[in-house]
Amino acid sequence: MTTTLDTGTGAGHSHAFQADVARLLHLMVHSIYSDRDIFLRELISNASDACEKLRYEALAKPELAGEEPFAITISLDKDQGTLTIADNGIGMNEEDLVSALGTIANSGTRAFLERIAAQDKSDEEREEEGGAGKSGADLIGQFGIGFYSAFMVADRVHVETRKAGTQQAFRWVSDGKGSYEIAPLALEEAPARGTRVILHLNEASKTYLEPWKLEPIIREHSGAVAIPVELRESAEAETRRLTDGGALWAKPRSEIKDEDYADFYRSLAAQFDDPALTIHWRAEGRHEYTVLAFVPGSRPLDLFDPARKGRAKLYVRRVLITQDADLLPGWLRFMRLVVDSADLPLNVSREMIQESPVFAAIKRGVTNRILQDLTKCAENDQERYAKIWEAFGPVLKEGLYEDPERRDQLFKLARFTTTEHGDKSRTLADYVKDLKENQTAIYYLTGDDAQRMGMSPQLEGFRARGIEVLLLSDPVDAFWVSTALGYDGKPFKSVTQGAADLKSIALKDGAQNPDVETSAEVATWLSYMKQVLESAVTDVRASDRLSESPACLVAGEHGPDRRLERILAQAGRADVSKPVLEINPRHDLVTLLATRFKDASDKSLMEDAAWLLLDEARLMDGEALSDASAFAARLTRVLTKAVQ
Ligand code: ADP
Ligand code: MG
Repeated sequence: MTTTLDTGTGAGHSHAFQADVARLLHLMVHSIYSDRDIFLRELISNASDACEKLRYEALAKPELAGEEPFAITISLDKDQGTLTIADNGIGMNEEDLVSALGTIANSGTRAFLERIAAQDKSDEEREEEGGAGKSGADLIGQFGIGFYSAFMVADRVHVETRKAGTQQAFRWVSDGKGSYEIAPLALEEAPARGTRVILHLNEASKTYLEPWKLEPIIREHSGAVAIPVELRESAEAETRRLTDGGALWAKPRSEIKDEDYADFYRSLAAQFDDPALTIHWRAEGRHEYTVLAFVPGSRPLDLFDPARKGRAKLYVRRVLITQDADLLPGWLRFMRLVVDSADLPLNVSREMIQESPVFAAIKRGVTNRILQDLTKCAENDQERYAKIWEAFGPVLKEGLYEDPERRDQLFKLARFTTTEHGDKSRTLADYVKDLKENQTAIYYLTGDDAQRMGMSPQLEGFRARGIEVLLLSDPVDAFWVSTALGYDGKPFKSVTQGAADLKSIALKDGAQNPDVETSAEVATWLSYMKQVLESAVTDVRASDRLSESPACLVAGEHGPDRRLERILAQAGRADVSKPVLEINPRHDLVTLLATRFKDASDKSLMEDAAWLLLDEARLMDGEALSDASAFAARLTRVLTKAVQ
């Protein structure tokens, strides 16, 4: 839909915003949102991106950038009521304007809209329940929401721009209400290079025309921007430099304050918290490069995105090569970092830079150093490290099976909840130090929820002996633990798999290990059960894994443990195989059944009992009963007999 407009400088076209943009704009304009200051950060960051893009293009075509140094200028005009953010970066042509300012390209903005949609839904649900809904607009502050944030403070926005190397300029105009116009702009009215974003401030936002209001915001939110920011207080005034545009990572550590690091982190990561750990170093020797890396204070939104991409900014001698260099393994993707290399080649493409052996060496060096510093933090600052592990442990653990070479280093970082220590603080070294006499394996149980897992019947025999069991409740655990060979020479062993040979380990209260022999009566009953349950289990056997419960399920000696098998089955990658039913031969119910079985002429009660024991074990394993009506019928028959 286009209509011709008279703009004075040539024919203009009116365009409708993409539906998502219209929705976003509506939200921004109609939310009475307290932290409107962020529009400045967003527009300055776009201006800086534009300069860095041109700097990169100019590597191949120096004439594009010319002599004029890069700068971002903010001009105030009280008479006109305008605030202008100008840059001498790459600029936009007509096509760029349509695609960049008429649709949503930015991943932060998209994530924001998805969140709002999710929140809207839960609002409705909440209203159905009679509760008050919370406005989705509260979420705005948590996202990098880009160019459109201009409409939080402006009734009308003009973008005047000229793409580097072209002889045409354009003016984009919108009031943020559904459509925008683009018209050619005479070259003498246009910036010689780059873009001017002119905000016609709304009544409530006129205070941004006051330098005392503006300056601190710029220093706070954009102090770390790598292009200098200048301020012109009025049409007649000279410009004044607010920030030097010096690259923070290039400064000596002693000159950098914690707040500087935190500001830099926030603009790099588009997070609003403080970094949990800051790592800043200069590598010298064979390769020279500087790294400034952060562990975020909280989980970034895209942490579990299937693409599992890291966010590393790669510079070569201060020229930004790419925003998402492939510098980190997937299991460090939560890190946010800048790497500036002195010796990568500049005269080749982005892709070729990342294929060079120097890049590979930097990649290894960065991963090594990050692991080293995480290990140091784990050793020296447990409180800080506990938070990092809580947020990113599940991601780091992916490295345990993806990167066997790093396994030993990662084992030092791993923290566990166990049956003896409930607070995600046990290391494998702690575990091994406290092994019981004759204990030769590291025992673990996998499941969805550590608390529930703590009540599994499979743990009873371990608990009775004070044997510590790792409670592994992240989905990734089922994978690494089945591929890792062991730790410190001790194999990992699932408590729900194979036969548990616990007889050689003493019981906690000094009690004698129970008689290992299973009575002939019980043995006969077990073989009868095996016959009855043949279609559902591979074996029925006596167990020393149990002390209170009559029965539990375990997986066979070989192959995956029950949880891993279930995860694989859900993904369609394997079938769930039949388990083994283990019976506690000393449990009253079992001995009574065995005695009754010997004399019973009517076997129907025996058959029901066998199935009920199996169903009970299934329920304790968190499994849904596949045939609930058969279960109910059996239970009813057995109870009827019991009360007769
Ligand atoms: P993002 O910066 O995350 O891409 P924005 O909404 O902030 O999202 O900006 C959208 C796009 O508009 C940018 O990707 C860029 O292509 C274009 N753009 C915005 N401001 C400028 C500018 N000052 N110079 C050149 N291009 C710009
Ligand atoms: Mg942006």
